Amino acid sequence: MSHAIAPVLGEATIQELREAVKGQIFTPSDEGYTAAASVWNGDYDGRRPALVVRCAGAADVIATVGFARSTGLAIAVRGGGHSIAGFSTVDDGIVIDLSPMKGVRVDPAAMRASVGGGAVWADVDHETQAHGLVTTGGLISTTGVAGFTLGGGIGWTMRKFGLACDNLAAADVVTADGRLVHAGESENADLLWGLRRGGGNFGIVTQFEFDLHPLGPMIYAGPIFYPADAARDLLHAFRGWASDAPDDVTAVVNLTSAPPLPAIPEEWHGKKVAAFLAASAGPVDEGAGLVGTIRQVAEPIVDLLGPMPYLATQTLLDPLWPNGIHAYFKATNLAQLDDDLVERLCEVHLAAPGPQCEIHVHQMGGAIARVDDEATAFAERSMPFVLNAVTGWQNSEVGPAHREWARAVLTAASEASTGRAYVNYLGDPGAARTSYGEDTYGRLVALKNHYDPTNLFRLNQNIEPS
Ligand SMILES: Cc1cc2nc3c(=O)[nH]c(=O)nc-3n(C[C@H](O)[C@H](O)[C@H](O)COP(=O)(O)OP(=O)(O)OC[C@H]3O[C@@H](n4cnc5c(N)ncnc54)[C@H](O)[C@@H]3O)c2cc1C
Repeated sequence: MSHAIAPVLGEATIQELREAVKGQIFTPSDEGYTAAASVWNGDYDGRRPALVVRCAGAADVIATVGFARSTGLAIAVRGGGHSIAGFSTVDDGIVIDLSPMKGVRVDPAAMRASVGGGAVWADVDHETQAHGLVTTGGLISTTGVAGFTLGGGIGWTMRKFGLACDNLAAADVVTADGRLVHAGESENADLLWGLRRGGGNFGIVTQFEFDLHPLGPMIYAGPIFYPADAARDLLHAFRGWASDAPDDVTAVVNLTSAPPLPAIPEEWHGKKVAAFLAASAGPVDEGAGLVGTIRQVAEPIVDLLGPMPYLATQTLLDPLWPNGIHAYFKATNLAQLDDDLVERLCEVHLAAPGPQCEIHVHQMGGAIARVDDEATAFAERSMPFVLNAVTGWQNSEVGPAHREWARAVLTAASEASTGRAYVNYLGDPGAARTSYGEDTYGRLVALKNHYDPTNLFRLNQNIEPS
């Protein structure tokens, strides 16, 4: 048993919890603890929780929340475990791990999916595509449905079908007082409002209900890679194209280095490049017509944008983000992509200290912007672009340089920033107030006061009760 839990918990207390839950419990002295305590982001893998509880269902979540309340141990909730800021693990506290709860049930007639609180996007895509249906999921299939959706959910179909949180029709939530509460349009609608981007602040979601849409099995999608010296022209073309592109298409420009993939000529591996990545949720044969002007930017290194299975699109980038990689992101909403910003982004791209230093400029608008700002906790829907400075590295010695570079990307964008940010792309805690903006934050605080007045759920972009 860890030194830290000994004064608080005796074996008898832990035994009571073991008897109360159906899932597995790991203390530091249990076989399997190291694997159970391990998290995706290598930067936080060294944390030593006092307990990891792998919940088999909502009853286990209720029992563990009660146990945490009575012992005073801090709670970290783990869905898919992809938190950039390390929120899903905690030294000397309890990890409530929902990963066994990954069941997905599709009702094709109602075009709805029920998804367990520990599912990842690969689980959802597998079941929904069996019926030719989708909902907006992540760019990486191993990202958790829970953290992704509760923070907003930027994905390939968002301009056509909305963000993940816009497709969240209902949820079952274990609240701080240990109740299982249903949140839907006609029941606890205030809670549903908060779950649509308020993060894990209001409770632990054990079941999600998503709207589905027809798409696939083939779509028009993929990347075009250009040399880095075409980055300026690409960003200019992207800015013009994005402003009136049809909702069918969702795209991102990525200033990065060419990954060592067989589809990319070997002489380019590791060299700085500018990539345009897009996916269309429209008819496959109309895809090429949607991105015509982007293809005129320059001679590409390789053009892989074309018909491909939806499931392949959803896993295309997975190999670049393996378990155990160190990762740090920093993000801001952009009011515009002006010439000055383009120049600065091109400069900071060339100064990147490693191959996985990426500047993502996400195209927003479409269905996202048609939802009222007050309808969900995802305000500022009119922003045209989201900037995300993404860094990953294997050798921890280079971590500080990568973090510094991500901060430099944000500094380069400061004049074009709206001041708010997409919470799921923030690598540092304590950013809730600024990222939501005062109006939404005030409403979120009122909701927090109601559902979690003692701030039991605080390992997140925390909304502090007043
Ligand atoms: C490689 C990678 C790719 C990504 N790609 C995208 C992308 O394409 N689009 C995008 O929008 N974001 C993306 N993200 C960001 C991602 O959305 C967030 O990191 C998100 O929080 C991950 O969710 P998770 O369930 O995997 O995380 P976890 O680490 O399990 O949890 C993250 C947060 O959510 C809370 N939480 C988790 N499960 C629950 C639950 N069941 N109930 C209540 N709260 C819960 C946790 O307490 C924690 O605060 C990516 C992240 C990574 C690392």
